[in-house]
Amino acid sequence: SVKTHGKNKYSYFQPEMDAAHMQRITLERELQRAIDRDELYLEYQPKYSMQHQRVVGVEALVRWCHPVKGEIPPVEFIPIAEDTSLIHAISDCVIEKACAQLGAWQRGPCQDMRLSLNLSPRDFDRDDIVERVASTARQYGIRAGTLEIEITESSLLHNADSVSQKIRLLRDQGIGVSIDDFGTGFSSLAYLLKLPVNSLKIDRSFVQELGLNCAQHPIVSAIAGVAQGFGLHMVAEGVETEEQVEALSAVGCDEMQGFFFSRPVSAEQITERLRLRAVA
Ligand code: C2E
Ligand code: MG
Ligand code: MG
Ligand code: MG
Repeated sequence: SVKTHGKNKYSYFQPEMDAAHMQRITLERELQRAIDRDELYLEYQPKYSMQHQRVVGVEALVRWCHPVKGEIPPVEFIPIAEDTSLIHAISDCVIEKACAQLGAWQRGPCQDMRLSLNLSPRDFDRDDIVERVASTARQYGIRAGTLEIEITESSLLHNADSVSQKIRLLRDQGIGVSIDDFGTGFSSLAYLLKLPVNSLKIDRSFVQELGLNCAQHPIVSAIAGVAQGFGLHMVAEGVETEEQVEALSAVGCDEMQGFFFSRPVSAEQITERLRLRAVA
């Protein structure tokens, strides 16, 4: 299309586009190297149960500390990985590290510890994804019902039959499935609720609005109603203030995650907190 519009009109923008493209290719190559050198690692953000007044689980979040550029957030490198097949290597690494850590916590400070990990839509194109998760969980002796997969609504849009079948297979293996960032995708509610998931994670954007103008937010109440009506577990993400905690408690949301409770931290820090709890 550059040609049809005449070269001159676009030539000014060309160098900039090339720079962005080059940057992306460089990042892709560096990401590949980081994977090869096993430089990706996980942080864990606690999930609090209000009823139990304690950490009942964690979400594993992937981290990349670039040797020169420092921490690169997953929102920057996951999309690049998703455009290439790098995402498969990343997910394999996340599954392996998260299951190993969960197994260690269950044998150590917290028998009934739970963990959720994020998979990408592209992972559901893999025929071996269910077996990969299930066999790794078995390998580390993880207790049934304690491992959960988070998938965003957008993953559920394409290839619906195959995704639905894989969710069912995961559930059959005692692995939970949660819809992440619930309410932000473009899927129909009817379709979403036919999927054999067991949990909804209400998106941060809705939680943020709680306590700003009025105590309640109609979308949050509606999602809570849907969760209750369909017998689904409800988790809130991005909880930052006490008002939000109160508003979420009021609609029956028991599990919460966010900076109000804790930022994502290292495995060692989680272990330390679990230990302190055990002696308290
Ligand atoms: P997500 O799964 O919805 O994860 C929640 C994100 O919100 C995390 O950002 C977390 O650090 C951040 N967060 C948690 N509590 C708060 C809060 O109270 N306030 C605010 N402002 N933010 C909060 P993070 O770690 O940068 O991850 C961003 C996204 O990248 C994740 O969203 C997820 O979609 C993706 N991601 C992270 N780890 C993985 C992974 O291992 N695999 C895949 N496929 N995607 C991942
Ligand atoms: Mg998540
Ligand atoms: Mg989320
Ligand atoms: Mg989110």
